[in-house]
Amino acid sequence: MATTLRIEHLVKRFEGLVAVNDLSIDVQEREIHALIGPNGSGKTTTLNLINSVIPPTSGQIWFRDTLLTGKPTFETVKAGVGRTFQNIKLFSSMTVLENVMMGGQKDVSHNMLRFIVDLRGSHREERVLREKACEVLDSIGMYHLRNETVDNLAYGRQKVCELGRALMTTPQLILLDEPAAGLNPSERREFVDILRKVYDSGVDLFLIEHNMDVVMNLSHRITVLSFGCKIAEGTPEEIQHDPQVIKAYLGD
Ligand code: ADP
Repeated sequence: MATTLRIEHLVKRFEGLVAVNDLSIDVQEREIHALIGPNGSGKTTTLNLINSVIPPTSGQIWFRDTLLTGKPTFETVKAGVGRTFQNIKLFSSMTVLENVMMGGQKDVSHNMLRFIVDLRGSHREERVLREKACEVLDSIGMYHLRNETVDNLAYGRQKVCELGRALMTTPQLILLDEPAAGLNPSERREFVDILRKVYDSGVDLFLIEHNMDVVMNLSHRITVLSFGCKIAEGTPEEIQHDPQVIKAYLGD
């Protein structure tokens, strides 16, 4: 199997604090890879480094043959890396369909005004986005809710909607920031099923997640961080029995 995401000797310092310390990870093609660790161990920082929300102090990140380091976020999206956020970033007064369509804009922040004008006009771009968004919504079981405003959706559905938005750029890999956070047990099961479907459709997944049931059920391989350093990597079975991992979570 080829490596799809390669993290090489990644370091991130915030003033005196080393948040990510010489981290290297190879994510293989057709893999669901989880990054876990206690609070403050550097997971969110790593995710923010992968899609260039923040620059590294040193180290490199590659997606297939593309060097992501130093590129703006929209270039990481163009390279095939999508992302969802822990705190949902949807426009709550707009419809599900409009929100998902917005994900098709490769660089929404630069073109927000034009996009909204296009969205309400009759451009060809708008038709193409609408068709694509309908396909995406169908694939994640949300088509029937396309005309609901996001405000009217249960939290679990809002999270699925955000996943739909990330799918609009046809990513080859999606970075998921705590997909199960805030979901009740039935929403969680439903979300995991949807993630499996997304994976089965050919999209690789890299997630950070606190819920161990989700991590152990969903992941093929797991990397464990503690104080910014990788302390273990392996299958769910290996990780659950690793003494260093148990110590990092439970303390001395
Ligand atoms: P996790 O996601 O595993 O909980 P984070 O990546 O959020 O961990 O944080 C790792 C460490 O870096 C923590 O000690 C956190 O306080 C620190 N940190 C994160 N972001 C910043 C920032 N922007 N400025 C200063 N320190 C930060």
